[in-house]
Amino acid sequence: MYTARDAGRFCKGYPSSERHTMIAILKESASDEAVSHIVSWIEKKGLKTDVSRGENETIIGLVGDTTKIDPFLLESMDVVERVQRVSEPFKRANRKFHPEDSVIDCGHGVKIGGDQFQVIAGPCSVEGENLIRIARRVKAAGATMLRGGAYKPRTSPYAYQGMGPAGLDLLCEASAELDMPIVTEIMDPRDVQVFLDKKIDVMQIGARNAQNFPLLKEVGKTKTPILLKRGMSGTIDELLMAAEYIMSEGNDSVILCERGIRTFETSMRNTLDLAGVVMLHKMTHLPVVVDPSHACGHAWMVPELAKAAVAAGADGLMIEVHNNPAKAKCDGAQSLTPDQFDELMQFIGKEVEFFGKKMN
Ligand code: PEP
Ligand code: MN
Repeated sequence: MYTARDAGRFCKGYPSSERHTMIAILKESASDEAVSHIVSWIEKKGLKTDVSRGENETIIGLVGDTTKIDPFLLESMDVVERVQRVSEPFKRANRKFHPEDSVIDCGHGVKIGGDQFQVIAGPCSVEGENLIRIARRVKAAGATMLRGGAYKPRTSPYAYQGMGPAGLDLLCEASAELDMPIVTEIMDPRDVQVFLDKKIDVMQIGARNAQNFPLLKEVGKTKTPILLKRGMSGTIDELLMAAEYIMSEGNDSVILCERGIRTFETSMRNTLDLAGVVMLHKMTHLPVVVDPSHACGHAWMVPELAKAAVAAGADGLMIEVHNNPAKAKCDGAQSLTPDQFDELMQFIGKEVEFFGKKMN
């Protein structure tokens, strides 16, 4: 068990307001009534609680100024097994708060996390009527979610910026025809209402916005699942703190995405950090998806990286597919053709099963 002194030692470097985090692990016998009694006792002291009722144990996470709580008093309560200090600054995303994997409902009966694996596929950007043709092909190949950007974060302001709301409409039409959820990027907090009005299933926060805190807070106020990409040079801690921004506003439906990070290597667009996927699974209960397309930038590499990601324990894949990569408005060099995607999916289906997971 950590003592208050240990907590201080372990968290050197974190601001003091973030040092004081605690979890109370309850006895297996704790009744619902006992849990709500402790929760209201804690909340009356001005703290927030996060209750995770698992199969084997119930954990109450205490968020706020835990100096107001006497850990020994809390531990002396009948139903409390033990009280532990949590040294990491991320709380709601922390596996210590929530030992079981989170399963996120993306709509259309598609869930991700735990033993549920999903494949998100589609073009980099929505370009027009080819979207529905690509969507039909990826669905037939086994993809369970459709991707496509209507708002594109481009390095150059002169490059294709996306179709905007008309692109969202095309995605919604494809979603309705194929009964599959869509994942599409939101770049501006002022667009949240448009995404809500159009009932977008999953909002993506791209790598370039991974630390756009006003945007993270705004999507955190919704109930829409968020696919949060790791920043270009983002550390694992920074990714988890970005997730914390969303979750602290009340939205627990966060899916993390490893999409490659910038390193000294120049032969690939980025460096795919599969070790990071393994580390994330230890640190957080949130599902982790791997995007091999943006990680390497070369279509020919995508299948091998996708297979490696499944073996590393990813909960899903995000893969760019285009009917004519040479003519794609964006990211053609890393896009698979529908035939190549089909071939890859035949392997992925078997591999996912081998690792004991299910795809919709
Ligand atoms: C994308 O998914 O099209 C995209 C722009 O990805 P990233 O933010 O990872 O670069
Ligand atoms: Mn892209």
